[in-house]
Amino acid sequence: MIKHHPTFEMLKAYVTGDLPASLAAGVSIHADKCDECRKQIALLTEQIAEVSFEPEHDPLHFGNVSDETMSVDFEQMLDNICSDDSITLTKPTEAKTITLRDTPYQLPRAMQHMEISSSANIGKLSRARVMLDEGEIHTSLLHIEPGGGVPMHTHNGFELTVLVEGSFTDEMGEYFPGDFIMLDGQHVHHPVSEQGCLCYTVANAPQKFTQGINKLLNPIGNFIY
Ligand SMILES: [Zn+2]
Repeated sequence: MIKHHPTFEMLKAYVTGDLPASLAAGVSIHADKCDECRKQIALLTEQIAEVSFEPEHDPLHFGNVSDETMSVDFEQMLDNICSDDSITLTKPTEAKTITLRDTPYQLPRAMQHMEISSSANIGKLSRARVMLDEGEIHTSLLHIEPGGGVPMHTHNGFELTVLVEGSFTDEMGEYFPGDFIMLDGQHVHHPVSEQGCLCYTVANAPQKFTQGINKLLNPIGNFIY
């Protein structure tokens, strides 16, 4: 069962379009699996639509438009859209998949149109970059083979993990598909996956390893960032 959700502030920023594409996709991947957040998003979307249709917020300055006029306008608009032959419904495309270490995964809906690099491997970790071109914000798909994990680390910036498939555990418990895990420098953890898993990750700085031979682990930090 999903236990970790985006904050209310983040859902609001998602609805108003104020999140970078990487985080918006993370919210979307979570919401596809979380009834609670999907409802919250629908409600916020409705509220924001209502606010932007209040006359004083009308960017076209039509003055006091009555409700009746508004509804007529909408009907007219819908008629125009429906009678326009140039608009065709897009056919649902076949879901894209990615294969990491011989394991095929269906990509989440929010990632269907994203460009993804070929994967690179270190030990039981495989990483494929999601090419979003957001500067210091790096987005990846991270695959952990059964029995693998990421050494104990903390975060120089933020690290978002949305579990897409499989499961993993760390000091804070066990995670399930859809879990939305936002961590920063206050958290130290050592994720391990017994069964293997696929995660969608977003980070704005390399992870910082906190145990043992730090220098030798730095390449992994750069690898998963
Ligand atoms: Zn949720």
